[in-house]
Amino acid sequence: MIHHSSPSQLRSSILSLDSRQIYLPQQTAFFAVRGVHHDGHQYIEPLYHLGVREFIVEKAAWSGILAEKAKKWNTADFWVVESSIESLQDIARIHRKSFSIPVIGITGSNGKTTCKEWLATLLQSKFSVIKSPKSFNSQIGVPLSVWGIKSQHQLAIFEAGISKVGEMKKIERVIQPTWGIFTHFGEAHGQNFESDQQKLQEKLQLFTQVEKLVYRRKNAQHDPIKEGMQAINPQAELISWSTEDLPQSLFVYWKIGAHETHIRIKKPAQSEAFLDVRTELTDEAYLENLCHCLIMAHVAGLSTEEIQERTKWVRPISMRLEIKEGLRNNQIIDDSYNNDLDGLQLALPLLKKYEHKKRVLIISDFIETGIPAVELYPKIASLVQSQKIDQLIGVGDQLTKYQQAFQSIEVFYHTEDLLNSGILNQLSDAVILLKGARKFNFELITQALETKTHCTKLEVNLDALQSNLTYYKETIGQNTKLMVMVKAFAYGTGAIEIAQVLQQQGIDYLTVAYTDEGVQLRKNGIYSPIMVMNPQIGELDTLSNYALEPEVYSMAMLEAIDEYCHAHNKSIKIHIKLDTGMKRLGFSPDQCKELTHKIASMPQVWVASILSHLVASESIKHQKFTEKQIQLFDKMTQKIIQTLGYTPLRHIANSAAIKNYPNSRYEMVRLGISLYGISGNKEEKKSLENVLTLKTYISQIKEIKKNETIGYGRKGKLKTNGRIATLALGYADGYARSLGMGKGLFEINGYLCPTVGAICMDMCMVDISHVPLVKEGDEAIAFGGKIQLTELAHQAKTIPYELMTNISERVKRVYVKN
Ligand SMILES: *Cc1c(COP(=O)(O)O)cnc(C)c1O
Repeated sequence: MIHHSSPSQLRSSILSLDSRQIYLPQQTAFFAVRGVHHDGHQYIEPLYHLGVREFIVEKAAWSGILAEKAKKWNTADFWVVESSIESLQDIARIHRKSFSIPVIGITGSNGKTTCKEWLATLLQSKFSVIKSPKSFNSQIGVPLSVWGIKSQHQLAIFEAGISKVGEMKKIERVIQPTWGIFTHFGEAHGQNFESDQQKLQEKLQLFTQVEKLVYRRKNAQHDPIKEGMQAINPQAELISWSTEDLPQSLFVYWKIGAHETHIRIKKPAQSEAFLDVRTELTDEAYLENLCHCLIMAHVAGLSTEEIQERTKWVRPISMRLEIKEGLRNNQIIDDSYNNDLDGLQLALPLLKKYEHKKRVLIISDFIETGIPAVELYPKIASLVQSQKIDQLIGVGDQLTKYQQAFQSIEVFYHTEDLLNSGILNQLSDAVILLKGARKFNFELITQALETKTHCTKLEVNLDALQSNLTYYKETIGQNTKLMVMVKAFAYGTGAIEIAQVLQQQGIDYLTVAYTDEGVQLRKNGIYSPIMVMNPQIGELDTLSNYALEPEVYSMAMLEAIDEYCHAHNKSIKIHIKLDTGMKRLGFSPDQCKELTHKIASMPQVWVASILSHLVASESIKHQKFTEKQIQLFDKMTQKIIQTLGYTPLRHIANSAAIKNYPNSRYEMVRLGISLYGISGNKEEKKSLENVLTLKTYISQIKEIKKNETIGYGRKGKLKTNGRIATLALGYADGYARSLGMGKGLFEINGYLCPTVGAICMDMCMVDISHVPLVKEGDEAIAFGGKIQLTELAHQAKTIPYELMTNISERVKRVYVKN
């Protein structure tokens, strides 16, 4: 269907403007946008073939062959609009309107992202919080963030940034904030404004409808924010604070020590502080941001104790500055985030810490500073000179044009020119500060300067994981929910990172084994529902505070939960575990009657789901037993549901059962190991991609004579004279000792190399006699390339689960995208 209007509703749950980042095409609506460098309309046809069925396209680009072809694509909807971005904003605005939760809007010149992250850290203890990802604060980023609000959210925090007049009004309509924070008003992002006054007026547009606004009052004589607000929103309650004791402002008193700061905040005309917290932060800019957050947390209803407790979790966020080891004894300070004079002024003193190193500064043109180039570059030049820089390198046509302003500078038009010049290879024993605007891609310089450190690492391919997830979503269809098991550090792959990916993909439930694992996820921004399989009675408070849903497998637990609900006047969601043959945890068939009667008399206990576990769903040999388990589950759940009077979700299928026993899928399935591409079903295996690769490297190569022995207990020998390589991977890293004596293989330069002798604690030796051109430092793959984890586990006389979860913490997890 071709519609000549803007959509007011979409079937898709995901919105995308980036054709390269579409993982679930059937559930994605694509907004075609024309930019300077590319035109989204050219991806419409491939996306249609990929399965995307909702497109928002622009009138001006909607003609010719594409528009003709699209008329025949009956299963897809096309909305032809004036501007895709405005249409995106409209749909986000409508979405936002359907929620009545408090929404906090943050703007200012600096500190927006920091404030948003810290405020979320404070509020997550009490609310299910949605916030903008990274610094998604633009005309596009804001609607995409707002689209993420779901029914489970209780509070939202969005940041808003603008670069020219008229933009904030549009963002305000999308966010519709209930409360606001104005972080800091400075000279960043100045270009497109006539005056500071105009810039302030523009930013305040975000607050035209807020009920409350938190900001810092810097000046005792006048209060420009108050004046501005009076003109646009006189009803708003203005909560200003100051480090001076002013009549109408909160008085913030901070005492900065060497390692911590003591902050006290007092209301006007009161003698006692209502907030009294300690923090590790000692930098004034940080403290300013923190105070905004503390006051807002108080406004949102957190108690003093809660705020004190959560403040411990507030840490600097590392998007600004990265310090890395470089080649040739160089130190790299990568500060490519802020590209303005203030930022440079703050960063230059960092070079002083490296007394004995040569100081090198690499900068790009400064863009959007609001200062005319003729004034700007001499300013930069004098700043640089004051800091005694030994070598200055500039990239960009502005710097080339104004190179005379500098005492000494080497200039290049493009970053590639610098890379090709060979200058970088001549730098040694230097500390190198990089400050480049985003479009100059200074990360290429960082890469060229960086040490390629060898380490043993477990690579987790997130694209492959996405693809496997998509396969399972398609297999179970839209009517079956998906729970993913992220217990045991997500099978060793890293629970937080994996949970974040899954959450973005909108999965329905996450499951952990222990309460602590759940708390850890909550503390790291995971708001998806979480089931805990092994909760303890003593943990009910924690479970309830962190919105973790316990699995209940005993009467004692059930009664404890009921008592807890009464005592605290709370209601709790539980998951009932039935034992249909595993003989591990769960209620047996003869307990069903008592169980349901009990639950029926507990109005505050809500059964979210009923589950059981299959013991051998991967094996055809036990088909009869598995089918009996499913039948029994059917019978038991039917009885329970009859008495309950409502219908909880039912789930029994683990990974293997999803394919092997489609009748076991019920309303939800529990995906575990197969998310990582491991499946015993040959046909299914073809649809899955490998996610995990364990890599190490060669520490040393040795020539070995036929009669010599290798390693502990003299267990290893070569059949003829040859060579071995010592690898940096041992049983303490999780490479099972049972893989010694040739049982395990490594892939080196494409060749398979068997282990020789016993596996040591931190190392092992492999036979490389047959591998040409091999050298120390080369990569060795333990599994993931030619060697399949399942096969390796078989060789080690165990199962993939055990090998995965045994990979020790010291093995670095690296998340890669193709
Ligand atoms: C771990 C676990 C699963 C997932 O099993 P896989 O075989 O990895 O799919 C499912 N259900 C329960 C109860 C589990 O403990």
